[in-house]
Amino acid sequence: MLKGYFGDFGGQFVPELLIPPLQELEAAMERFLSDTDFKRELNHLFANYVGRPTPLYYCPNLSKDLGFKLWLKREDLTHTGAHKINNTLGQALLTKYMGKSKIIAETGAGQHGVATATAAAMLGLECLVFMGALDVQRQALNVKRMELLGAKVVPVESGTKTLKDAINAALRYWISHQEDTHYCIGSVVGPHPFPYMVREFQAVIGKEAKEQIIEQSGRLPDKVVACVGGGSNAMGIFFPFFEDKEVELIGVEAGGSGKPGDYHSATLNKGLPGVLHGTKTNLLQTKDGQILPSHSIAPGLDYPGVGPEHTYFQSIGRAKYEVVYDKEALEAFYTLSAKEGIIPALESSHALAYVLKLKGKLSNQTQVIVNLSGRGDKDLDIVFGSDFVQR
Ligand SMILES: *Cc1c(COP(=O)(O)O)cnc(C)c1O
Repeated sequence: MLKGYFGDFGGQFVPELLIPPLQELEAAMERFLSDTDFKRELNHLFANYVGRPTPLYYCPNLSKDLGFKLWLKREDLTHTGAHKINNTLGQALLTKYMGKSKIIAETGAGQHGVATATAAAMLGLECLVFMGALDVQRQALNVKRMELLGAKVVPVESGTKTLKDAINAALRYWISHQEDTHYCIGSVVGPHPFPYMVREFQAVIGKEAKEQIIEQSGRLPDKVVACVGGGSNAMGIFFPFFEDKEVELIGVEAGGSGKPGDYHSATLNKGLPGVLHGTKTNLLQTKDGQILPSHSIAPGLDYPGVGPEHTYFQSIGRAKYEVVYDKEALEAFYTLSAKEGIIPALESSHALAYVLKLKGKLSNQTQVIVNLSGRGDKDLDIVFGSDFVQR
């Protein structure tokens, strides 16, 4: 495979000025990701700061209802309440090992910004978070959170004042401050080496899950299911099972309202190959290549692209990608809360909703792991503000 590519996907489609910091990052990654001191320090932080390993929880009540064995990988129990911290802490530590003092990030709903600000505070790095001016207004509480953590939030007034303008502003800043600044991308997206590096930091999820299910049940799972926005929690749990061909890998995308003409975020089901944010992958776009807006009730799934490695997994048939609609995700949100006493993030609720639809269709020996990427406390306003009525 060509360097920086996953099959036909990935690569480095960036302006000339971005090549030097990307090359520097690639060299640092190659040097430090296998370095004993770096690994020891990161593992120490994972154990004592993040709270790893997270449990693999067997759902006694739902398993009985569904007729098969349901397990949850509890990323919702990490510090800050979602898997994003695995990546931001990894990149923040790498920033220090590179001898840089500042970390920047872009954020839409604010979750990646908060996770970056957290890691920066802990490791003593200066932190700037670029955020569309409209998002700054809409996500006032997350802005306060980031400021509390010592980060500076920079409102971006250009364009549509949302995520894509924040990404452009962060890239411009990185180009002019590359000597002392690292750009922390929040998912397995963007130009090489980001998709590879972020997957390496998130693969701790799948490594743990594999050991835990073998220890608790004596064998591998039959299916591993995760929601896909950019694709980092999914790739993190999928990758360690890649060689285990008997384990089916299923990514779940957000179908939005499901109404004809409404926007959605089902990039792998409804997108076409193209280039976005420096990488070749599947995108939501018109026939003329205009990027379409995405939409989902789950803020973290609202992205018009997807990590190139997922497009590759789909192209070789190693993983399949399904669609779940807002209403189904909300039902799953209520179900898990009531049946197991766990309030899931709306993103994770998409993965769960797909699995709930398998009720009665699998043997009672079938084992399914759902990656519970985050906790749902952050989503209560959305849930209670929606017109969905619980049945
Ligand atoms: C951000 C987020 C996601 C989506 O991001 P991926 O890169 O696709 O994992 C999923 N779940 C939660 C809880 C998130 O915060």
